[in-house]
Amino acid sequence: SRYFTINDFPQGTPGRELFELRETELPALAEGEVRIRNTWLSVDPYMRGRMSGVKTYIDPFVLGEPLEGAAVGEVIESRDARLSVGDRVRHMAGWRDIAQLPGDQVEPLPGIDVPEQAYLGVLGMPGMTAWTGLNRVAEMQAGDNVLVSAASGAVGSLAVQLAKARGGTVVGIAGSPEKLAWLESHGIEAVSYRDRDAGQLTEALQAACPEGFDIYYENVGGICLEAALNTLRTGGRIAVCGMITRYNAEGPTPGPGNLAMVLIRRLRMQGFIVFDHWADYPRFLDEVGPLVASGEIDYAETIEEGLERTPEAFLALFEGANTGKMLVRL
Ligand code: NDP
Repeated sequence: SRYFTINDFPQGTPGRELFELRETELPALAEGEVRIRNTWLSVDPYMRGRMSGVKTYIDPFVLGEPLEGAAVGEVIESRDARLSVGDRVRHMAGWRDIAQLPGDQVEPLPGIDVPEQAYLGVLGMPGMTAWTGLNRVAEMQAGDNVLVSAASGAVGSLAVQLAKARGGTVVGIAGSPEKLAWLESHGIEAVSYRDRDAGQLTEALQAACPEGFDIYYENVGGICLEAALNTLRTGGRIAVCGMITRYNAEGPTPGPGNLAMVLIRRLRMQGFIVFDHWADYPRFLDEVGPLVASGEIDYAETIEEGLERTPEAFLALFEGANTGKMLVRL
């Protein structure tokens, strides 16, 4: 098995040299274990937190050990009666080509008619996150005007479509012309944050939705949060899903200068972690799975080829190189 590890907890933006590709001979399967040939690996922004050496809501990676992350693959050997050779499964032993782990940590893929990598994106953890943030945290109602940052990413691209289907004005903030075009082609008003300060972004958002937003789906922080606070209506809700602007920060980052808007506009701001809501995953799949299978909900993917490219795929998330879900195909 070939796997990636890190030997140090980086400060600031990690470089490619942080990641070391190693090889190991796997032992024979123990009773209850399965061996899986991974076909798709997920890289996700939260992994940066696991490289910081401190426990947040999840333990840090163990230095020198294989990194972890969501992956799908095919069972190639099994000593678990519930799993057979050829089964397509999802599990957390990513960042490697061959995974070996107890069968009870492996989940057969649901039987919805979608490509298997969709279970790492639109029908996996990121999709579940979008659905949870809108429905459970922001308590979206039909007709709500919704603002989403990192709107063409894995989470954001589902959030904007779910919001749009409920009838309000939906505005997405994204970085590049291609991403803005992707949003516009899905009926979303698209606004760039590039080369703008918080005041200019506020003006662009006001132009896109003059009556103001009921909900801000927060993925980014920084000027996006500041501009959102200026453009929420009284009683608005902020679902704090992510704050990617600060994941590579080396020290404390300043908060928005207009936080008093929370008071003035009686806003509710609530963070959430999707794992706390995982009991709802079957309900999410029932609701969103058929819409993805029928094409009513679209999704995009950005794919790196080969295990060797996994660090590049991960690092590119922080450069905004992905439209939709960032994946590695093995
Ligand atoms: P994305 O697919 O959205 O990829 C990250 C995107 O973030 C980039 O493509 C880029 O888009 C944007 N970005 C990166 N750096 C910056 C920056 N400095 N300023 C502004 N935008 C930036 O990732 P995911 O969909 O997987 O995750 C989105 C967010 O959701 C993340 O913050 C993540 O941590 C969070 N999350 C939270 C979960 C939870 O349980 N709370 C679960 C899953 C994800 P662009 O080019 O448009 O700037």
